Amino acid sequence: APNLKVEDLHVSIEEKEILKGFGIEVNGGEIHAIMGPNGTGKSTLASALMGHPKYEVTSGKASFNGEDLFEMEVDERARAGLFLAMQYPSEISGVTNADFIRSAINSGREEGDEISLMKFIRKMDEKMGTLDIDQSFQHRYLNEGFSGGEKKRNEILQLLMLEPKIAILDEIDSGLDIDALKVVAQGINDMRGEDFGCLIITHYQRLLNYITPDKVHVMMQGRIVKSGGPELAQKLEEQGYDWIKEELGIED
Ligand code: ADP
Ligand code: MG
Ligand code: MG
Repeated sequence: APNLKVEDLHVSIEEKEILKGFGIEVNGGEIHAIMGPNGTGKSTLASALMGHPKYEVTSGKASFNGEDLFEMEVDERARAGLFLAMQYPSEISGVTNADFIRSAINSGREEGDEISLMKFIRKMDEKMGTLDIDQSFQHRYLNEGFSGGEKKRNEILQLLMLEPKIAILDEIDSGLDIDALKVVAQGINDMRGEDFGCLIITHYQRLLNYITPDKVHVMMQGRIVKSGGPELAQKLEEQGYDWIKEELGIED
């Protein structure tokens, strides 16, 4: 089964340490949520795992299916089945959405095993139906003139089409109205299964009303300070983060 393991990770941006001993393990069949106040390093975690050059890993380890993640090229991580919504370019002129997704699927496959055009079109039609996405979407240029909500739906379309082993979704719910939120949640729920693990990074609890995570982690000051089940997200929604700070003696 797929496995993403992060151990005692320390990451700095411009000499400033942001991640201070972050650890997590996500297996196939599991959905984890990371919640935490703004500025606590959630996006830094996602960027560091995707290999963004600005984020310096100063110590600690990360592995994907047993392989050292930081030794893998960035595109190799994607080909091996690690999906990071943000690693996909925001706009590429002259490349349609369909072309982009098809080449991303094929880059993860052996030569001779590429997805046929027929199969691709059928799958794309089916997934766009699930996500309630307009047919014209596939012929539009990648993210060009997409609204915030369209970009999010498109990220989920990429997720459903690429069928990664582990997905890291950073603020996938930001700026979505309730209908789009349900659609995105349904897309993720459809992927649930032993061959898929997911790390949902979110500031708000509302997405978790539609996707029940197996584990919820609270991140503060660059590391996980508390873990629990779905009830932890509920408590955060009702009571905010202050009680955790008090409990752990954390000061702002
Ligand atoms: P979160 O996603 O939890 O809101 P971030 O990871 O975005 O937190 O930010 C954590 C800290 O790192 C913040 O203090 C932020 O200002 C800083 N930071 C994040 N990205 C950059 C960057 N590209 N350059 C400089 N500082 C950054
Ligand atoms: Mg440490
Ligand atoms: Mg963030």
